[in-house]
Amino acid sequence: MSTGKINVKTENIFPVIKKFLYSDQEIFLRELISNAIDASQKMKTLVSLGKANVELGDMTIEVKVDKDAKTLSVIDRGIGMSEEEVKKYINQIAFSSAEEFVEKYKGTDAANIIGHFGLGFYSAFMVSNLVEIKTKSYQEDMPAVHWTCDGSTEFTMKQIDKADRGTEIILHIADDSAEFLEENRVVGLLHKYCRFLPVPIRCGMEKKWEKPEGKDKEEEVEVPRIINNTNPIWKQQPSALTDEDYKKFYHELYPMVFEEPLFQIHLNVDYPFNLTGVLYFPKVKNQFELQKNKVQLYCNQVFITDQLDGIIPEFMMLLHGVIDSPDIPLNVSRSYLQSDANVKKISNHITKKVAEKLEEMFKNDREDFEKKWDDIKVFIEYGSITDEKFYEKAQKFFLLKNTDGKYFTLDEYKAKIETLQKDKNDTLVYLYASDVNTQHLYISSAKENGYDVLLMDGFLDTHFINMLEQKLEKSRFTRVDADIIDKLIEKEDVHPSKLSSEETEKLKGLFEGNVEKEKFTVQVESLSESDLPVMITQNEFMRRYQDMSKISGQPSFGNFEHYNLVVNGNHPLATRILGESDEEKKVALTKQLIDLAMLSQNILTGEKLSDFVKRSVELL
Ligand code: ADP
Repeated sequence: MSTGKINVKTENIFPVIKKFLYSDQEIFLRELISNAIDASQKMKTLVSLGKANVELGDMTIEVKVDKDAKTLSVIDRGIGMSEEEVKKYINQIAFSSAEEFVEKYKGTDAANIIGHFGLGFYSAFMVSNLVEIKTKSYQEDMPAVHWTCDGSTEFTMKQIDKADRGTEIILHIADDSAEFLEENRVVGLLHKYCRFLPVPIRCGMEKKWEKPEGKDKEEEVEVPRIINNTNPIWKQQPSALTDEDYKKFYHELYPMVFEEPLFQIHLNVDYPFNLTGVLYFPKVKNQFELQKNKVQLYCNQVFITDQLDGIIPEFMMLLHGVIDSPDIPLNVSRSYLQSDANVKKISNHITKKVAEKLEEMFKNDREDFEKKWDDIKVFIEYGSITDEKFYEKAQKFFLLKNTDGKYFTLDEYKAKIETLQKDKNDTLVYLYASDVNTQHLYISSAKENGYDVLLMDGFLDTHFINMLEQKLEKSRFTRVDADIIDKLIEKEDVHPSKLSSEETEKLKGLFEGNVEKEKFTVQVESLSESDLPVMITQNEFMRRYQDMSKISGQPSFGNFEHYNLVVNGNHPLATRILGESDEEKKVALTKQLIDLAMLSQNILTGEKLSDFVKRSVELL
C-alpha cells in the first residue's frame, strides 16, 4: 500500500471541479464511458494487429448502480492499466489536464463551452466524495491495482487480486448528487450521450416480449438492458443503405416524431477534415412547425450537443439528423467557435453538399422535386436569404409556383413573362398573389390581360422577394392588388379620359367625403369602361413593410394600413353619379361602390358591413 500527494498548482482543485460545471454535472458519465470505450477500442485494435495475445471475450461495458452502497460503477474490458500507468495517466496526466482545463475556464460561463470535453476522468469528482479505480492491464504478469482518492489531493494505491482484464471505476456518490443513484436517471443519461457508441453498454435489466425457443407464443422476459446501437447509420456506407434504413434510423433518433422525413442527405467526408452524418429534411409547411436544435452533434459517436448555433449554418438547424466530426474543437467557447477557420470550412462544406444534393434531385427527377417543393421551399428560402453561397447554388433549382399550380425555375419564369410583363421603363414585373381567394378578382383581371400571377403564400416569401429584387436585374415584384391593372405594369396611356378636369375634381371630392380620410387616398383614373368602377389597392412598399414587421415581431412605426381608392372615371356609373340630381341617392350610390370595393378586399366588416347590406336592400 502506498499513499501519495497529487502535485498541485491550484490548491483545492477538487472543490473547484465540483462546482465548476454545476449545471452540467451529468457529463461525468459521458467522460467515464468515453474512457471505457477508448480502452475497449484500443484492446480490439491491439488484438486485430496481432500485438496482444488475449481472448477479447464479451466487451460489453457495464454501468452498475448500487443504491444501498451509494455507488455507481463503470466496468470495462479494455486494456486496463498497470501500476505505472495509473501513476502516469491518472496521477499526473489526467490530473494536470483537468487542472489546466479548470484554470482555463475559471470564471467563464461553463454553459457557453461546447461539449466541455477535457475534464476527463476527474469530472467524477463533480458527483462523488470518493473514487476508486480497480484496474488490470491486458499485459501478462501485471498485478492489478486499486487506487482511491477522496477528493483531497491525497491518494492511496495498492495491489489487489482481480480476475478480469480491464478497469472498474467506482464512484461513491455524494449526498447532493443522489440523483445519480437512480437507475432511471442513469439510463436516461446513457440514452442521451451513449446511444450510438461503438461498444455495447449495459445497465440493469429490462422487460421485453420475446418468443422463447421451442414455444410459439411471446412471453415477457427480463433481459440485460443494452443502451446503444453500436453501428449507427451515419457510420455505414451510403451505397449499402436503403430508404427504409434511413427512415428507421430517423424514428430511432426521434421516437416522438411520427411524420416521415421527406428525404435525407448522407454526409461522408474524410478530406480535408473528417465529417460524417445524415441530415433529414422534415416536412415543414409553416413557421410554427419550424424547430431549431433538432440536429445533434456527435464526436466519434459521443453525443455532444444539439445547440448548434455557430457550428452549422443557421438554416441547417431547421433540418433534423446528426453530424459527427472529431474535427470540431469542443473545448472552446461558442464565440471562439464561430470564428474558427476549421468550423467555417466544415459549415461551408455542409452547405455545399446540401445544395448539391438538392440540385441533383432536381435534375434527376424534376417531377418528384416539384412534389416536394412546397415542403422544402421555406428551407431553401431561409438558406438563400441568410447564405449568399447557398443562394448561388439554389438559383438553379429554386422554383416559382404560379396560381395555376405550375412550377418554373427562375430562368424559365423570366422567359415566360418577358414579352408581356415589361413596363414602359423596360422593368420586368413579377406579379404575385398571397391568397388566391381574397385576391381572386385581381388575379383574374391580371390573367385577362395575359399576365401570369405567382403564388407567394409562404411566410418567408416577402423576405425572399426583397432579396430577389436585389439580385435580379431590372425586375420588381408587385402584388396583384397593389394597383389597378393598367398601373400594375404601366404601359403607354391607353384610355383617354371621358371627364373634364372639373368633373374629375367633383367626383374625387364626392368619394373623399365618404371614406375614412386617414385610411384612404382617393384617385380618379381613366380606365377602360369594362374595368370595375371602384377598386381598392394597397401600395406594394407599404404593405410589404407591414408584412415584414409582422414576421419579425417588431412593431411597425405608425399605422401603415393604408389603401388607395381608385375611381374609374370612364365607367358609366361615374357619369351616372355625377348626373344624379337626388343628393341622397348620389351619396348612397357612392357609398355602395366604396363598400363593394372594400368587400372584394376583405376589409368591410362590422357595422359597415351591416350598413352595406341594409343599403343594398334599399337600393334594390
Ligand atoms: P483523456 O481521456 O482525455 O486522456 P482522462 O483524464 O479521461 O483524459 O484520462 C486520462 C488517462 O487515463 C487516459 O488517457 C487513459 O490513458 C487512462 N484511463 C482513463 N480511464 C481508463 C480506462 N477505463 N481504462 C484504461 N485507461 C484509462
